[in-house]
Amino acid sequence: MSEVYTWEPSNAAIAARYGLDPADILRFDTNTSPQAPPFVAETLGGPFDPPLNEYPDSAYAALTAAAAAYLEAPSEEIIVGAGADELLDLAAKAFLPAGGAALLPVPTYGMYGVLTSQRGARIAALPRRGPEEGFALDREAVIARLPDVQLVWLCDPNNPTGRSEDPATLEAILDAAAGLGAKGPLVVVDEAYHEFAGTSVAGWRGRYERLLVLRTLSKAFGLAGVRVGYGVAARPTIARLERVRPPGSISTVSATLGATALARPELARANVARLAEERARLAAGLVACGWQPYPSTANFLLVRVGDGTVAAAEAAADGLLRAGIVPRTFGPANPLRGHLRLTVRDRASDDRLLATLAALAERPGQAEPAGQGRS
Ligand code: PMP
Repeated sequence: MSEVYTWEPSNAAIAARYGLDPADILRFDTNTSPQAPPFVAETLGGPFDPPLNEYPDSAYAALTAAAAAYLEAPSEEIIVGAGADELLDLAAKAFLPAGGAALLPVPTYGMYGVLTSQRGARIAALPRRGPEEGFALDREAVIARLPDVQLVWLCDPNNPTGRSEDPATLEAILDAAAGLGAKGPLVVVDEAYHEFAGTSVAGWRGRYERLLVLRTLSKAFGLAGVRVGYGVAARPTIARLERVRPPGSISTVSATLGATALARPELARANVARLAEERARLAAGLVACGWQPYPSTANFLLVRVGDGTVAAAEAAADGLLRAGIVPRTFGPANPLRGHLRLTVRDRASDDRLLATLAALAERPGQAEPAGQGRS
């Protein structure tokens, strides 16, 4: 039997158990300092609440409740983490044994392969369909491989191809996985870009016990530096993840900001609306430069550069970097070599990108920085 970390109960839990006011609880069990250094209050114009000299609430009750309210799900079906990346890691730790295998429809988000390797498990890579079919999942091929794997990494909308999956495909895969019973794999559906696409399979967790849906505050909520993500699944799956969750990986500051963000979804909605408009404008600008952006339901565009050769993508990336503009490139072994991935930013930043591209087209290899400063 492996050892499982048991966290110290929160102030709220102790107060509830003994009928006390949480404000009257004094911790002599956690070896913390009696106060935070003065610069915290000086920086913030007052002490941070909850106090930063203490550890965060081990249950992350407020953050979990905020995610539950946002999802309209019970708190027991939520797990929070230091970004979606930590939850991906927990999923691999809890469900992927060393010597096992994980199904990876490629191209997709790089962490899935990294985490699979870190577990000492095999990557069962499966090509997605081509650009003419929207880089969609190969439904039959995925289903055929399900009996051989303990975990399936799905991403919807998929990074880096930027398209949403057909819900019927996801349903067919989940049905087939459920049909394998207790031996069936965990199916992770990473919905990091959910807010941009508007679709979700989170509501299916009652039908599929081995479905784990992951979300993040790094994208539509605009808080990548805060490092908060959350997952939603049927209770038995959440319970397995909780057994490998480290205590306190989300700082008190991050948990507080994360809860506030989830309670104000209208801000994320406004961001999504603005970015959808800007995405169309950026795509049109790229087309005018002779590039081919693929349709996107996310906050980035996958772009076929010029004639789609590796040389064209490399030259463009080099020219952009010399002007201080950083595109996402793909290595020589990646099926997307010859492409770049570009985040949709704000109008001023995207204009600087487009102006640099126009300059590159005129004088390849000699682009000067277009515009100055950070925007
Ligand atoms: N999943 C996908 C598909 C992503 O693109 C990213 C960020 N690039 C993440 C997860 C990681 O999200 P977080 O910042 O919450 O760790």
